[in-house]
Amino acid sequence: MTERYDVLVVGAGPAGLAAAGTAAAHGARVGLLDAQPRAGGQVWRHDVRKNAPRAAREAIAALHGVTLLAQHSVIASEDGALRVEIPQGSTLLTYGALVLATGARELLLPFPGWTLPGVSGAGGLQALTKQGWPVAGKRVVVAGSGPLLLAAAATLRAHGAKLVGIHEQASAESVHAFARQLLHWPARATQAALLRAKLAGVPYRFGSVVRQAHGEDALRLVEIDGAHGTSLVDCDLLAVGYGLVPNVELAQLLGCALDHGHPHPHVQVDELLRTSVPAILAAGEACGIGGLAVARIEGAIAGHMAAGHQDDARALLPERDRARRFGALLARHFAPGARVHALATPQTLICRCEDVPLGALDGYADARDAKLATRCGMGACQGRICGTALAELGRFPRGAGRPPLFPARLATLAGLALSSSDASRSST
Ligand SMILES: Cc1cc2nc3c(=O)[nH]c(=O)nc-3n(C[C@H](O)[C@H](O)[C@H](O)COP(=O)(O)OP(=O)(O)OC[C@H]3O[C@@H](n4cnc5c(N)ncnc54)[C@H](O)[C@@H]3O)c2cc1C
Repeated sequence: MTERYDVLVVGAGPAGLAAAGTAAAHGARVGLLDAQPRAGGQVWRHDVRKNAPRAAREAIAALHGVTLLAQHSVIASEDGALRVEIPQGSTLLTYGALVLATGARELLLPFPGWTLPGVSGAGGLQALTKQGWPVAGKRVVVAGSGPLLLAAAATLRAHGAKLVGIHEQASAESVHAFARQLLHWPARATQAALLRAKLAGVPYRFGSVVRQAHGEDALRLVEIDGAHGTSLVDCDLLAVGYGLVPNVELAQLLGCALDHGHPHPHVQVDELLRTSVPAILAAGEACGIGGLAVARIEGAIAGHMAAGHQDDARALLPERDRARRFGALLARHFAPGARVHALATPQTLICRCEDVPLGALDGYADARDAKLATRCGMGACQGRICGTALAELGRFPRGAGRPPLFPARLATLAGLALSSSDASRSST
């Protein structure tokens, strides 16, 4: 079955919600799809403990006339249509204009012990916690880099976790310089102050890196290299993330050019968010990490463009340019330093899907050679984690993604639609 929309938006985070609502307000027939069961993306992910923030509720309420396609994962592109895996099987979607609002994921960098049960990404543990994973009473160390650490820690504390400490790898000078710049971003300054207030009493250390996680079957303690030497800290959970990386795999699959500039590859767009492929626009974190404000304003620009209202889009450009400058500030002050890049040893697993240690990759010139010889990047994450980490560590650039973008049923790959009863019996 093939369904057609005037405007199809991939990703129902803040950027996709704004794009869909804006295009629909112009009278377009709009489909908004997301792999997740609810709209909201990462920052507005449903929290079992509290109501969605007002901005999220308003963005969802503004979707008049938009068909919301939840639990729809785009896994491939076929002759101008998107192959989408759904709970009942799969479907094909076509479009007059496509908006890619695929967001970002966490940058995870391997260190000894990072695959122990109890160790996760900072945003990853935040997401699990919002969805009901029990952290009450657990002693948690949060580490890595960037403001997401504070947001994750605040969520964990609100759910009853005992925060042992927050360890930021960036130096005190760098974080203080960033904080001074916040004066030019009053909304951001307020957000930071609110987070710090929610985290009152929790030690927040700068220039501090988790070197190793220790434990036999599960995490028991972490070794931290801080400003005053090395220390061992008992904990139940360790949440480590080194900022965000744009999700560009779908754009790549569709033939859109990437910008390989600092700090991570992102979808290349012109001023009005047009990609290099006609009728495909991109917005939000997929075009470079910029935060919530960027995602919302770019979503609106892409929505106007997709519906053919260029003048409305142009009117928003000054606001977008200002919001984008914040992303550059983040990249400048929180980029992972040399100590972080040196954490993995030859024995450290780099590809946890296929159990490939870093040392096994010596001698390979690119991601493809390494993959063919060692299976690195061939697992369920399709190289999203190891490929991104290897690029960050300067080993080799990320290889281009291949379909399926996510694990999919064999029937989906064969282009067949399953009946619901078949779907419930099939495996992924
Ligand atoms: C784990 C994590 C936690 C975060 N927590 C916070 C926070 O607490 N506070 C904060 O200010 N910022 C947070 N951020 C940053 C935040 O994501 C951005 O500021 C903002 O949400 C970006 O909006 P977006 O619409 O560009 O992308 P996102 O919100 O990332 O939305 C992208 C959506 O696209 C969907 N998608 C991607 N590919 C496909 C596909 N092939 N098929 C179907 N759907 C697809 C995803 O499921 C996702 O819902 C977090 C980021 C991450 C990665």
